[in-house]
Amino acid sequence: MKNEDSNSVNANGELNELMDKLSNYPDLAKRLLDAYTEYGENLQHIVDRANKQKEESGREELSPEESEELAKLDDEAKLSFYTKEKEILVEAVLRQQEEHDSKGEQLKNLKTEYRRIKMFEDREKVGHKVYPNDPCPCGSGKKYKKCCAKKELEI
Ligand SMILES: [Zn+2]
Repeated sequence: MKNEDSNSVNANGELNELMDKLSNYPDLAKRLLDAYTEYGENLQHIVDRANKQKEESGREELSPEESEELAKLDDEAKLSFYTKEKEILVEAVLRQQEEHDSKGEQLKNLKTEYRRIKMFEDREKVGHKVYPNDPCPCGSGKKYKKCCAKKELEI
């Protein structure tokens, strides 16, 4: 599996925190939980598949090709989960803005979550962590720090 770096996030550890932030929207919290359950099932399939491959080959370790294939599936599962998570966050932000909610802090939290997922997506796009002075993955020609890294959720 891919090495984790400081830009990567552990969905498991942060789920509860995000569920709290969605406490005003039980339907969104439910959708997030469903997406997370699906993510867990996908990861389980990957583990099952790895075990089956080892069993069938009689080897203790997966071949580099098998490992790479599984890492790819792992990334796909993660990206699929984050895509759903982002949709849910956007929906929550929209609703909060509609309600002219005075809870500015909560809105800020949701926007921070959004930026976190956006950074993950940017990283996936280029295949490695995007540093501030790197060209922006969106292809604007600007530096990352002057472009998508500081882009707020625009609604
Ligand atoms: Zn950009």
